[in-house]
Amino acid sequence: MSTKYLTKSLLSGLLATVMTIGTIPVISVSAAQSNEYVDPADVWMEANGRTNEFDMNATTTYETQYCPVCNMDTTSLTYRVPEYTRSGETARNHGVQFSDGTLMDGEGTGNVDGGAPGLDAFYTGYHWTKSVCQICGTINSIDGEESYSFGKNVYSLNPCDYNFFLDFDNTTYTPYDSEYHTTTLKSGQYCQFCKGTHARAEEQQDKHNFNEEVDGELGNQRFHITGECGDCGYIKNEYAAAKSVVQSYYGEVDGQAHTVTVTDLSDSGVNTSIRYGTEADNCSLTSAPNYTDAGYYPVYYEIEY
Ligand SMILES: [Zn+2]
Ligand SMILES: [Zn+2]
Ligand SMILES: [Zn+2]
Ligand SMILES: [Zn+2]
Repeated sequence: MSTKYLTKSLLSGLLATVMTIGTIPVISVSAAQSNEYVDPADVWMEANGRTNEFDMNATTTYETQYCPVCNMDTTSLTYRVPEYTRSGETARNHGVQFSDGTLMDGEGTGNVDGGAPGLDAFYTGYHWTKSVCQICGTINSIDGEESYSFGKNVYSLNPCDYNFFLDFDNTTYTPYDSEYHTTTLKSGQYCQFCKGTHARAEEQQDKHNFNEEVDGELGNQRFHITGECGDCGYIKNEYAAAKSVVQSYYGEVDGQAHTVTVTDLSDSGVNTSIRYGTEADNCSLTSAPNYTDAGYYPVYYEIEY
């Protein structure tokens, strides 16, 4: 007489536990260090007319200077903007002193070699300066009545003083695609008066730094994975299928040990582990129990995500 023997799996434990995958720390290549410094070449605004364009992009400060019109020390508003030329060489080397191209002697004109900062024109180590007396309103009065610039809406060229350069180290991130962002590293020194810098940005692609949350939507046999990149702010919003395959054993007693097999087929990106047990609330075995003798053996399992 042969006895029927049955190893049966019950699905009561299926997906019994859902675990949130916690923060996956990613150490970025360089620690995000930023300050308030912005290179004017990176945010340059175009305007009609050279003086207007300088005014829009200038760094301004209030300074106390002697005004020969007022005949006393007054507050003047000073505008300074980096000199950018196509060659990267200052126009002073060609005798140019004023932004309308006028030479140092106030007569004749030369090439200011201007271009688009950050595109085809480069910081020279000089800046353009203009001032306005806040009492009498005279432009460039502090340059003296003999100066070509006196009372004219022009800028004049002066070397940036390397004794007053400041250090900066900026890292910015912009989304590139669903996996990567572009990390822009820019560091060096800048003139604290005009904000000009010789530093050039370096770009590289790095993986997003996601804080992921996995939400089990098991009625739909899936996981909802959401996350935001801590660096560039890119939002991830995707689904991964939750799947498992169960093989039970129904058969004759044949002297061999029989067991059940559970295979997890969840999509990549979802971490899983499977545990087995003989009671629904106690699944701790890493492999399913074996049975040789005839009988009905429920095997419970849990998949942890
Ligand atoms: Zn030259
Ligand atoms: Zn004045
Ligand atoms: Zn400067
Ligand atoms: Zn990112």
